[in-house]
Amino acid sequence: MAIDLYALPVTQVSGVKGKKPEELLALGITSVGQLLDYYPFRYEDYTLRDLTQVKDGDKITVQGTIAGVPQVQMYGRTKSRMTCKIVVDSLFITAVWFNRHFLRDKLTAGAEIVLTGKWDQKRLHLTISETEFPGQGKSQTGTLQPVYSITGALTQKWMRQTMKQALLQFGELIPEVLPAELLTRYDLLPRKKAMALLHAPGSLEQGQQARRRMVYEELFLFQLKMQAYRALNHDRADGVAHPVDLPAVRAFVRALPFTLTASQKQVLAEILHDLQQPHCMNRLLQGDVGAGKTVVAASALFAVVKSGYQGALMVPTEILAEQHKRSLDRLFEPYGIQTALLTGSLTDRQRRDLLASLQMGLIDVVVGTHALIQEDVYFRQLGLVVTDEQHRFGVNQRSILRRKGMNPDVLTMTATPIPRTLAITAFGDMDVSTLRELPKGRKPIQTYAVTPAMLERVLGFIRREVSAGRQAYVICPLIEESEKLDVQNAIDVHAQLQFAFPEYRVGLLHGRMTASEKDEIMRQFSSNEVQVLVSTTVIEVGVDVPNSTLMVVYDADRFGLSQLHQLRGRVGRGEHQSYCILIADPKNEVGKERMKAMTDTNDGFEIARRDLELRGPGDFFGTKQSGLPEFRVADMVTDFETMEQARDDAAELVRRPDFWTGASYASLRQFLQRENIFTGDLLD
Ligand code: ADP
Ligand code: MG
Repeated sequence: MAIDLYALPVTQVSGVKGKKPEELLALGITSVGQLLDYYPFRYEDYTLRDLTQVKDGDKITVQGTIAGVPQVQMYGRTKSRMTCKIVVDSLFITAVWFNRHFLRDKLTAGAEIVLTGKWDQKRLHLTISETEFPGQGKSQTGTLQPVYSITGALTQKWMRQTMKQALLQFGELIPEVLPAELLTRYDLLPRKKAMALLHAPGSLEQGQQARRRMVYEELFLFQLKMQAYRALNHDRADGVAHPVDLPAVRAFVRALPFTLTASQKQVLAEILHDLQQPHCMNRLLQGDVGAGKTVVAASALFAVVKSGYQGALMVPTEILAEQHKRSLDRLFEPYGIQTALLTGSLTDRQRRDLLASLQMGLIDVVVGTHALIQEDVYFRQLGLVVTDEQHRFGVNQRSILRRKGMNPDVLTMTATPIPRTLAITAFGDMDVSTLRELPKGRKPIQTYAVTPAMLERVLGFIRREVSAGRQAYVICPLIEESEKLDVQNAIDVHAQLQFAFPEYRVGLLHGRMTASEKDEIMRQFSSNEVQVLVSTTVIEVGVDVPNSTLMVVYDADRFGLSQLHQLRGRVGRGEHQSYCILIADPKNEVGKERMKAMTDTNDGFEIARRDLELRGPGDFFGTKQSGLPEFRVADMVTDFETMEQARDDAAELVRRPDFWTGASYASLRQFLQRENIFTGDLLD
């Protein structure tokens, strides 16, 4: 029977005594197992460097010969600055020590010395943090030293020493947890080896090898939990197995005004497959703005209605609801499919009638905001819920429906792929479909970042586009958390533009208008009665007016990257060349990075990646509220591919009967047992 290192008190490691156990406790370490699991967060690199290969500001280690007499300046009794000339690779540099004048006597001209410090390329200065004399005492030159996150009286030196000791005493007892086949498949180090190298890598490559193994392990175990959970729930065939009429769906698709892209076909096939299964679909459809998600959703809704069920399409705003209703009507009309719009602006009477029709099954597809899933909305037979943009179909919504005796398939669509995918992959409870290509013939949008001083020229640009018969959006300055001020801004800009373009109609759209006012202005913009639309960000998602070719964003540096990309996605939807002009304060540094990202690329996946980079994943998810797992070694962003891999591997493993019975998987099953997979609540 193997020794459980987690049951072994950390005081078993020699040298952990006195106040040390208490100091380790502050880091959450009480057992040997926990100590070994306390990984360094980076390495200090003492590899000798060549001065011609380093950059200004790098922390480097070099070897050289002392070539002068040390000069010491004292400040008060203890503070000092000491300099000395050193020859490194036939270059004269100045080594600078602070408060280390006690080293003076050791600095004899002609002696060899190894120095670690921060390199100032311009002045050829090295500000020293560590000094070694070759041949004297223990050397760390040429090694990588782990750096731990420590508090209180603990030192790096003590931690390094103690880890070494712990590995020496207990390293051999570290058990393997990954199945041999996975170790082989990915050429991963055995756990024992990886742990040793993680704490004391011989080289950066070895450290990376070790990290790769531990990242995989961490993500695999996490995903195993998810996938096992999911597999156990999948068997509960409590969804609707839709008898999909494939020929009818094919005919529907053929009748569309365009041919589906290969991606759209693929994704639709995945959805149709899910619809026919007895378990509930929970699928994410991600695709860049303009990739054509709506028509895929419409085809799925069509399939569900043809199999005798109802569908619901949920969107974040009323404008979008109205737009989707119109496009669904266009597509469904020839088939006699009844649609309806359920929004907050219905009168009580209208609402009552609508709810009654829904319950009787007189309405096939209902479009609306989140009001759709409220407590008093009943369906006769709800088969599919599609949600468009931004809102994840949450746990609560599903349980509301369950209570009403419904367990529909769910399709969630999003145009901000990576962050969402990260989240979903992390939760592991959704299947993901991706639209990888845009419909053919789209011209990339040309994006320019300009300063407020160039406003006149921007107005000239608007005039040029509009006089050529196109239309423009102008998004107003954003004042965070004050809708009232945003509205005021929009009103001001609207007045200015009306003055600047007396020959055109300039419309105004903002969140304080009633739904019918908004609807009317959108209708006018869609039909080109209005040429320039001034708007707050209510316009942001999903709006589709192909004749508009220009998107102008005021205060662009105040918007997030994904939001800017969404805004830009409002143009470039037709055959004409489109433009996006971002007016940004050149003094805003973060803003500058965002403008650069926007002008660099049109690819939403790339934008989302940069967005994460700029915000940092912690920011992005607001880690605490998101409930996203925090990993010890893995990083949700940089290790995303491994996460996906681990997810597939875990899914495959739990599908195999021998996983649930075979002796070689006993420890993994025990792990699942410990994680309460078998007794926990249902996934939602
Ligand atoms: P999004 O993925 O941003 O929701 P939409 O569904 O609004 O994109 O589609 C954008 C535009 O592209 C719409 O006008 C739609 O009719 C059109 N479209 C969708 N699929 C195709 C296709 N395969 N070929 C040509 N145009 C398409
Ligand atoms: Mg859309």
